[in-house]
Amino acid sequence: MKEISKQFDFKKRESEIYDLWEKSGFFNPDNIKSSKKYCNVLPPPNANGELHLGHACGYTVMDIFGRFERMNGKKVLLLPGKDHAGIQTQVVFERKIKEERGVSRHELGREKFYEDCYDFCQSRSGYMRSQEKRIGISADWSREKFTLDPDVLKIALETFVKLYKDGLVYKGKRIINWCPRCATALSDVEVIHKERQGKLYYIKYPIKDSKEFLTVATTRPETMLGDTAVAVNPKDKRFLSFIGQKLILPLQEKEISVIADRRIDMEFGTGAVKITPAHDPLDAKIGKDHKLEEIQVINEKAQITEEGGKYAGLDVLVAREQIVKDLKELDLIEKEEDLVNNISICERCKTPIEPLISDQWFVKVDDEKRSLKKEVLASIKAGKIDIYPENFKKILINWFANLEDWCISRQIWWGPQFPVWYRGEEIYVGLEAPKENKSKGAWIRDENTLDTWFTSGQWPYTTLGYAKGKDYKNFYPTDMMIMGRDILFFWATKMLLLGTYRTGKVPFKNLYFTGLLLDKDGQKFSKSKGNGIDPLEAIDEFGADALRLSLVMDIAPGQDARIYEEKIESFRNFVTKLWNIFRYCHQSSEDFRLVEKISKKDLKTLADKWIVSELEETALKTTQLMKEKNISLAQDVLRKFTWDSFAAWYVEINKLEKNTKVLGYVLDRILKMWHPFTPYVTEEIFSILNSGEKILMVSVWPKSEKRFISSDTKKNFADLVDLITSIRNIRSIYRIDPAQPLEVYCDKKIEKEIVEKLARVQIEKSRKFEKKKMIKISTSKRSVYLDIAKSIDIEKELENARKEIGELETLIAKNEGMLKNKNFVAGAPKEIVEATKSRIGEYQSKLKAKRDLEKDLEKL
Ligand SMILES: [Zn+2]
Repeated sequence: MKEISKQFDFKKRESEIYDLWEKSGFFNPDNIKSSKKYCNVLPPPNANGELHLGHACGYTVMDIFGRFERMNGKKVLLLPGKDHAGIQTQVVFERKIKEERGVSRHELGREKFYEDCYDFCQSRSGYMRSQEKRIGISADWSREKFTLDPDVLKIALETFVKLYKDGLVYKGKRIINWCPRCATALSDVEVIHKERQGKLYYIKYPIKDSKEFLTVATTRPETMLGDTAVAVNPKDKRFLSFIGQKLILPLQEKEISVIADRRIDMEFGTGAVKITPAHDPLDAKIGKDHKLEEIQVINEKAQITEEGGKYAGLDVLVAREQIVKDLKELDLIEKEEDLVNNISICERCKTPIEPLISDQWFVKVDDEKRSLKKEVLASIKAGKIDIYPENFKKILINWFANLEDWCISRQIWWGPQFPVWYRGEEIYVGLEAPKENKSKGAWIRDENTLDTWFTSGQWPYTTLGYAKGKDYKNFYPTDMMIMGRDILFFWATKMLLLGTYRTGKVPFKNLYFTGLLLDKDGQKFSKSKGNGIDPLEAIDEFGADALRLSLVMDIAPGQDARIYEEKIESFRNFVTKLWNIFRYCHQSSEDFRLVEKISKKDLKTLADKWIVSELEETALKTTQLMKEKNISLAQDVLRKFTWDSFAAWYVEINKLEKNTKVLGYVLDRILKMWHPFTPYVTEEIFSILNSGEKILMVSVWPKSEKRFISSDTKKNFADLVDLITSIRNIRSIYRIDPAQPLEVYCDKKIEKEIVEKLARVQIEKSRKFEKKKMIKISTSKRSVYLDIAKSIDIEKELENARKEIGELETLIAKNEGMLKNKNFVAGAPKEIVEATKSRIGEYQSKLKAKRDLEKDLEKL
């Protein structure tokens, strides 16, 4: 018999097993013969990124479903890829060329910068790929894509051209989030909010031809240079007489009007609010409705423009100081208040955002002729996608209902440049540059770059080769999309929007969210806190199977979960247990082998019938739960069967009964059911037992043989377990040495050998016995009598029991006394009173047990 090592040598074997899978060709669906298909286009990580725990978690879930479907006979395509990750990569690459070559991107020029950055991503993506493989993802690497691959990009750009022709993209002046440092527009989701100590300034605006003032409050006084109105709420009685009056805008010395608008918050400041349409999103809307002028007084560098008069050229914060000083000299500051306010900052570089009116490209999401957002809403409401967890459906519906036009232009160089050219007033939109005609002047290309989410938002069909590709025909709409819940708004929504527009179908039938991973104390992982766990280090130390289990076990979809080293370690022990079960089976007999089919006549004893009945029930439940995408519960069912039924009871009994065929059958099925979760260790065991001739990854998922499920068997076995456990309890109550054999008398049918071995007793059947002198144990089906008199010192045990009874009675009396004391009950906190009551309850149940014991002992 081949010697089996004590532990699964994952350090050596994981990479060899992955090679075996890759070489088998079964990651590629073309090599699987089936008419059924399953496709999950994997979220593309940043090509120059590092594998982090979030990726590891996502890949584990994707791979679990992928392997499950493959074992269910489907052509499974897990399509991997990489993202160019616009701003993020540009920032990294700019830093790199500065450090290594001492050049800025402007010195390189746009074209060269793009080429070098492309090469950089290509060279780094191999590194990322090698990390992705280590988690065990069964992806088809022969189909790997990059968001800027020419074929992928062509389809994405065609979408832009089509949107333009359909009138669903436009260039317009809109208020946008502008990062002065990154010098680009940001989408709402690229902006984060932070509380900061600030000041609220109350500024007096003189009323025209009067000595009176109207006071407005603002945290950003520098924007007053661009004010074009002051607004009040029409319901606000304090200001009714002011509506329509003219004010003189201080410092700019020009007339503005008092207008009424329902959107004004009467509680903020004085209730009168200055309106700066060019620098505040709400003001922009109010300004549009009241046809106010938009005056840009802050530029892209966060400096005051020429419109700002004498403040032109100053940085906003310097201008703010100067303006407050000047207003004070004019006695136009009524007061200042300290205020904690929420400011918006750039997600990437943390610079405060300046809301600006800027020329940008937008996708029109709610056009009269074709409303993209309503199309998506209709699909979601019609149940065309199943969403896990289900309550995220509401979040999505709400988000789409409130969706505004999507700004898709970024002022960066890394990413696809807009396929738009200008010649004077003419505009050309197309995949190729328009033909030049010298007499009419040169075409100039739009400098903007498409938002990263515009390309990744088309990932499910660009990677499959829309619209004529074989993969597109075979696999679209895809079956599954899995992502962290933190990118729901960034990504899931964009895919739904663009997928519905371009292909007329929702891009995936199931949308599954994973939660956030937190450290042991429930904190987010962050570089600055140094609390991160490197998934590759965790794999080196505990193995990929252990990491996979710790990322998905006991965790519901969308739910945050804690992960820490001890947890991963405990799952390593779990993998070792599985290995130990295998070692036992392997050593149980010379000719031990895995068994795929079994018949009723192979089930010889109660234990055989019971374990197979439990196994088939487990297969039934696990399969059902996997189909419902409930991997955590599926694992739980499997875990209970494996440890609580198989290892704890059947294996022990099998040591006596030695039915290797049943052992082989159970092991075969649990290896198959564990495979999606712990692919490496199960493949290794399967390979050893099949002398490397078969691959577990493509073996068939067990179908429950319902004819073996028997509730009678279950009841009978439960009775046996009850009997053995009760005898074990008696031993512990009477403190009987485990090595000391006990005699048990029984006049009914009993599984003699099993009970004797597992309860360490000797069963006497033939002679008559005196029941009075023994301890009686009753289960639902029988009673047995334990002769313990010989094994214990009755007098001493009685003495002990009586002493403990006395002590318990004193304790109960003391605590009851406290409760009778009215001062205590009235004065003590409620929790203390409750604790006293529950303590009495505990003592009473202990007392009852001791009194029963006393009674039993007195009989002996
Ligand atoms: Zn920034």
